[in-house]
Amino acid sequence: MILLINPPVTKPCEPPGGLVQIAGALEEAGVSFRVWDASLEGLFYLIQWAVIDDKDDTWARRALSHRFSHLTSFRDFDLYKNLARYRRAVSDLTRILKVGAQRKGVKVGLADYRDPSCLPISTTDLLRAAEHPEITPFYPFYLTRLIDILEEKEPRLVGISLNFLSQAVNSFALAGLLRKLIPSARLVLGGSLVTTWSSRLKGNNPFQGLIDDLVAGPGEGPLLSMVGKEGSKEATHLTLQGFPLSYYLSPLPVLPIALSRGCYYRQCRFCPERSEGHVYRALNGQDMEKRIMSLLKKYPSSFIHLLDTALSPHHLKEMVKLSPPVKWYAFARITEEIADVDFTRALKKSGCLMLKLGVESGSQKVLDSLEKGISLSTVSRTLFALKEAGIATYVYLLFGTPEEGESEARETMHFVLEHADAISYLNASIFNLPVGSRPDLKCQPFYPGDLSLYEDFAHPLGWHRRKVRLFLSQEFKSAKPIGNILLRTPPVFTSNHAPFFGYASDDALDQK
Ligand code: SF4
Repeated sequence: MILLINPPVTKPCEPPGGLVQIAGALEEAGVSFRVWDASLEGLFYLIQWAVIDDKDDTWARRALSHRFSHLTSFRDFDLYKNLARYRRAVSDLTRILKVGAQRKGVKVGLADYRDPSCLPISTTDLLRAAEHPEITPFYPFYLTRLIDILEEKEPRLVGISLNFLSQAVNSFALAGLLRKLIPSARLVLGGSLVTTWSSRLKGNNPFQGLIDDLVAGPGEGPLLSMVGKEGSKEATHLTLQGFPLSYYLSPLPVLPIALSRGCYYRQCRFCPERSEGHVYRALNGQDMEKRIMSLLKKYPSSFIHLLDTALSPHHLKEMVKLSPPVKWYAFARITEEIADVDFTRALKKSGCLMLKLGVESGSQKVLDSLEKGISLSTVSRTLFALKEAGIATYVYLLFGTPEEGESEARETMHFVLEHADAISYLNASIFNLPVGSRPDLKCQPFYPGDLSLYEDFAHPLGWHRRKVRLFLSQEFKSAKPIGNILLRTPPVFTSNHAPFFGYASDDALDQK
């Protein structure tokens, strides 16, 4: 039996897509497996058993008394009709985790885990977490739950899926415990963070003795061959067998489905899709239909989250053709197709509720330097075409890139103000420079970790992070139309919950 683990902390609103795909391949090949969403269960454990010691912390004490009703409320559309109630539920649960689950300075959130004394980007610290799993507040939960799971059936192989930095310390704490409890089991670590690390480690495994295999890229093929099975090359089967669907914090079961691997464009200068050289593989129309419809047969009343890093125009057209009987949302690259209002109307008809769009900048010069391959006029027409069709837009901006100075940042601000009516939700972040990606810049480490993903750099135009941060807080975010967009952008769950606000408010329930 293979045990598949999603370690804390990931957003507790839908099953982890990578494991859904791996579980599907194992099921198809007849390999027995068990899924453990340790992140979802672990967060619920911390919330349930949180203790508020400070009698004067009235916010935390009040939040604690509402914790179960808050958790239930996320599974009801009513919550998404009332932004203030939604924000309160998120901030109360966050407060409980912050105050009630604190252990030696560790900060846990609904999508976050920080321990200043144990960095997720340091091999030494991660190995220490494996040696001393008691450093994590999840430790008591691991002990009881893991023993239960291992008593049901002992796995001969355990796959730990590590995709986010917020999971790293807990992945290693779990690995350390597993190594002690079942020393003969093969421990495999995979996921997108491991993929990024692997491209830097060049085949080395610095965790030898603890982790048997580091898997870069899709995990199903390597896992199948480790148990002596061959998987079909273009496996379309996905399964949610074993995922606690009704416990996730969403008003409908969310089906995480990928139609492709990698990005079909792969040119953007700041993106790991380019620097890590991932190969693009996409399902054809027939396999895509099979993948989507077979899940919908089992879960007819659900919601689709398309996980592709950028859904290609071809797949967008296929979604229009397929028009599944449920709503869906995706990340799409801005292209002429979605700048056409006839096409966006067809998308809306096919069930598309929201598109996430990497606009990055309102300066054409910056877009060109990032090699985004888009023009501001196409961005503008896209935003209006989507608005016209009634599809929500979740816009991503990137400030502080090496080619952006203060005046270009202001151009972006003007662009957003001009298009504020067509932007439903907004994410404005500060650029992080991937390690080793710009030898032309003067760089230095952010932190003393050997597994760092990003590094600090002397901005060639003097537009340093501190200045960018000030600009964002004092000017950009305080401009009223922008502030309004940010206010309605769901905190913590961000784009995972944003479509439910549309679902709840634009009478979409009646349209399908
Ligand atoms: S379109 Fe998106 S996923 Fe593709 S290379 Fe650009 S940023 Fe990366």
